[in-house]
Amino acid sequence: MVYDTIAAISTAVGEGGIAIIRVSGPDAIEGIARIFRSKISLKDAETHTVHYGHIVDSTSGEPVEEVLVTLMRGPRSFTAEDVVEINAHGGVIAVKKVLDLVLQLEGFRTAEPGEFTKRAFLNGRIDLMQAEAVIDLIRSKSDRAFSVARKQAEGVLSKRIKALRQTVIELLAHIEVNIDYPEHDVEEMTSAFIRDQCGLAIHEIERLLKTANEGKILREGIVTAIVGRPNVGKSSLMNVLTQENKAIVTDIPGTTRDVIEQFVSLNGIPLRLLDTAGIRDTDDVVERIGVERSRSALEEADLILFVLNYNEKLQAEDRELLEQLKDRPVIIVINKTDLPHQLEIEVVEEALLAAPVVKMSVVKEKGLDRLEHEISEMFFEGQLEANDLTYVSNVRHISLLKRARQSLVDAIEASDMGIPIDVIQIDARSAWESLGEILGDEAGDSLIDQIFSQFCLGK
Ligand code: GDP
Ligand code: ZN
Repeated sequence: MVYDTIAAISTAVGEGGIAIIRVSGPDAIEGIARIFRSKISLKDAETHTVHYGHIVDSTSGEPVEEVLVTLMRGPRSFTAEDVVEINAHGGVIAVKKVLDLVLQLEGFRTAEPGEFTKRAFLNGRIDLMQAEAVIDLIRSKSDRAFSVARKQAEGVLSKRIKALRQTVIELLAHIEVNIDYPEHDVEEMTSAFIRDQCGLAIHEIERLLKTANEGKILREGIVTAIVGRPNVGKSSLMNVLTQENKAIVTDIPGTTRDVIEQFVSLNGIPLRLLDTAGIRDTDDVVERIGVERSRSALEEADLILFVLNYNEKLQAEDRELLEQLKDRPVIIVINKTDLPHQLEIEVVEEALLAAPVVKMSVVKEKGLDRLEHEISEMFFEGQLEANDLTYVSNVRHISLLKRARQSLVDAIEASDMGIPIDVIQIDARSAWESLGEILGDEAGDSLIDQIFSQFCLGK
């Protein structure tokens, strides 16, 4: 496979003191050697070594920037091609200047977004699923989502999909034998085998699909709305949640609504606070957003934190909300427990039977850990810590898994109905292909090779 050589700044521009220009492709080493002056030529350097020197303007011969250059010869590199990374310490302008010089080299061009990862995939370094995980990794907004993406990048999920495919391949090989050697007449055994093998695969697919919801939540965050009548402490709660987790707060301006979302990680649980966070006087804005908008925010929410005042009797507004929140994923937050008790907690509990109750005092910062615990119970059945972090979190993967499952269900049904085995073969084959698509495998030849590799039947 011959590709051109690509280059790009692979660190965020303007952030931090160091910028890395990554170069990958057949001309990477020779090209950079032409503009890099150091003790030994890059061309003679060993793989996986770092070199100090200067990038020079090839026409004037003037040194442009003091750099460290890392050399990784393919296939032992991220893209499986020759890779050169230039660490430049100067400011943005110096880095851009270096990149310009790099891009002037013959056969060099700017990398498209994600192209280094794409090459790693095209060169067989990683499968499609891992490639997608790398993209998630870059985008992940919370610690936990980051771990999930990293695991996936390491191929945990890929391994499970491959094992699934193995099950289907065994099925296919078995069917193939039956078609090719019908004289063996193993009719009975075949339908039992088909049912077992498909059942096995379906079971595993279902286990993977069960993780999908958790995966989505980890990736996108639990869309959380904080509701309650004025003055119960919504803004205070919001502030505590965001300030305690300041390092990972990002503001995402709402696209279709004017509400600003705030992404926080509550001990690894990513919450997307749907509200007016980030705007100083929350109350005014909440009121201005109007009933309509709050209602749609409520409908959209995966989680509703219903805040009540421990220090006051239930009011008409509280009761109204109570009605609205029936059958919704609610956690009742009873705030201001540092003040004397007034609230009719039993009434609230009775109205929202399934909802957990968390008593807290935002000003005293009491009860936050309880809240965190309840959220974890609600969304991860308390399994958050124990989970091995294998999640299916990609829409494409989910739909392909469902497709594979359907094919396997069809195969069982066809077999039970005594439909000819060639038809069952088609179902099994399409299950195999759907699973392969997750990994980015081409079907055709690969299927045949795989089947043959299973065929150690003495011929
Ligand atoms: P919101 O209108 O629901 O957003 O309520 P705010 O967060 O603006 O809080 C209203 C008032 O209640 C403010 O003066 C807060 O300082 C106060 N407050 C919030 N939480 C507590 C708490 O846990 N205990 C006490 N005593 N006061 C609180
Ligand atoms: Zn407020």
